[in-house]
Amino acid sequence: MRTSNLFYQSRARRPEVERAEGIYIWDKSGQRFIDGSSGAMVSNIGHSNPQVLAAMKAQMDSATFAYRLHFENAPAENLATAIAERTPEGLNKVFFVSGGSEAVESCVKFARQWAVASGNDSRWKVISRFPSYHGSTLGALAITGYGPLTDAFAPLYKEMPKIPAPTCYLDRDNLSDHDRGLKYAEMLRDEIIAQGPETVLAFAMEPVGGASTGALVAPDSYYGRVREICDEFGVLLIMDEVMSGAGRTGAFLASDHWAVRPDLVALSKGFGAGYAPLGAMIADEAMVDTVLNAGGFAHGHTYAGNPLACSAGLAVLQEIDRLDLMANARAMGDVLMAGLEGLMDRYAFIGDARGKGLLTAFELVSDRETMAPLPKTWNAYERFVELCYDRNLITYSRRTRGGVEGDHFLVCPPMIVTKPQIDEIVSILDDSLSAFAREFGLEH
Ligand code: PLP
Repeated sequence: MRTSNLFYQSRARRPEVERAEGIYIWDKSGQRFIDGSSGAMVSNIGHSNPQVLAAMKAQMDSATFAYRLHFENAPAENLATAIAERTPEGLNKVFFVSGGSEAVESCVKFARQWAVASGNDSRWKVISRFPSYHGSTLGALAITGYGPLTDAFAPLYKEMPKIPAPTCYLDRDNLSDHDRGLKYAEMLRDEIIAQGPETVLAFAMEPVGGASTGALVAPDSYYGRVREICDEFGVLLIMDEVMSGAGRTGAFLASDHWAVRPDLVALSKGFGAGYAPLGAMIADEAMVDTVLNAGGFAHGHTYAGNPLACSAGLAVLQEIDRLDLMANARAMGDVLMAGLEGLMDRYAFIGDARGKGLLTAFELVSDRETMAPLPKTWNAYERFVELCYDRNLITYSRRTRGGVEGDHFLVCPPMIVTKPQIDEIVSILDDSLSAFAREFGLEH
């Protein structure tokens, strides 16, 4: 491997990419990998989609950049319209950014500006959940609940209140699923009251969890109750759909599954689908009017809304419709979940398989009854990914319990995935689980 002037996050190195197409990526030595996690849940429509590439090439021939304070551009206008056509009534104003952290920061800052503009100056606290991941910039870290990524930086930002994420699958009580969902929603109500409702600006949540919880889905009862509680206290609901949005769960927004209308939405990842750095804040029209009437949104990023990125985003949304990829995400999500459940029958150390559509994960434990995690020192979250990588399957993992222990693996192939390809993914997982069991002396 050549020496590098690139400063990676750690000393770990990976092979160099040669090309990518569909759900596959080839390295320079010609090895083919299945992109079983769409990168970091990004390449939702697969790699090298000809329609997207053609749209980008056509845009390159006219203009790659025109600064948004100097020119309007058609791709940005058309993409905003395409988003508004896919979002709930009134949630139709779009502010472009270049990634997920920027989208989340935009939501938080916009919410605060709206509060100031609407006579709610006392409101500034953004309650979020633990564990959660909302991005790596300081504002996004303040609402993130994942110790290894936040702790060192805590002195640099104002810590925001956290309530437990609805990890019902770990609870050993006698409640029904429905009541457990309500129990976790009531924690929001309690926290708003404890903080002083007049100080609380917003509640931010991932409707289907991402990297920090491994595709955590709350019971159905949770979502509507959270919306009611926010309404009761005039608290804004921010849905962080950076990972779950743009169709991955089988609906354009994951919150659509529960017919919950957020006030603000953060979108990125699968929305640019790896073709261009792209993200967006989607905002309620009346809130935008309030902020613009008060003098404008004091926020923005230089590359935002550039015509090349927006032409890619528009083509991505069109491809999702043309190929009916949300329906495929639902159907293939079911096939994948059935495959993971089959693996659970064979490997007692898989504690849980969960998700929605193709935002899917499974978690390894030492005891399925108690859900006690595997010994931390095994670093299963890293080791198992390597076993899969050795077998040319890419998966994405994190520590489940607040980043401290626990091991989950996101299996999130592009939404174009077919049944034979899912079967191949499940078969490689099977082989890797066998190898893992042998290596750590686990029964199966
Ligand atoms: N929010 C969620 C739910 C995410 O999953 C991520 C990234 O993983 C982010 C925000 C941050 O996005 P980015 O890495 O593009 O800044």
